[in-house]
Amino acid sequence: MTYDPNNVFAKILRGEIPCKKVYEDDFALAFHDINPQAPIHVLVIPKAAYVSILDFSAEAAPELVTGFFRAVGTVARQLGLEEPGFRMMANIGSDGGQEVPHLHIHLFGGRKMGRMISKD
Ligand code: AMP
Repeated sequence: MTYDPNNVFAKILRGEIPCKKVYEDDFALAFHDINPQAPIHVLVIPKAAYVSILDFSAEAAPELVTGFFRAVGTVARQLGLEEPGFRMMANIGSDGGQEVPHLHIHLFGGRKMGRMISKD
């Protein structure tokens, strides 16, 4: 899938639209989801043009892959999610329910997350 530079997270990275930032470093930006599905719902995105884990895992430079996943862990710890735990999720493509075509990891916390996926 070709990366669309006009997707909403690309606009957030360029500063064209605002976000409620919780963390930023050279590799990643984290911000509150605009439509939270849990008491804590934060998105972590790489600062580079990748649609999903598919192109990211295949093509991203090793330092970006490492930096991004370190940022995910840092954000989870900074949000206080280490205890009592949290859910980490990434939607990919149509069946995965991906709406925004820029790789993002959802971090959900602040309540029991229930069963793993919807049966709908
Ligand atoms: P996904 O279905 O995995 O692509 O999730 C996209 C997520 O992005 C949804 O949870 C949306 O609520 C969230 N979202 C969309 N636009 C924004 C925005 N401008 N700021 C923060 N979160 C957003």
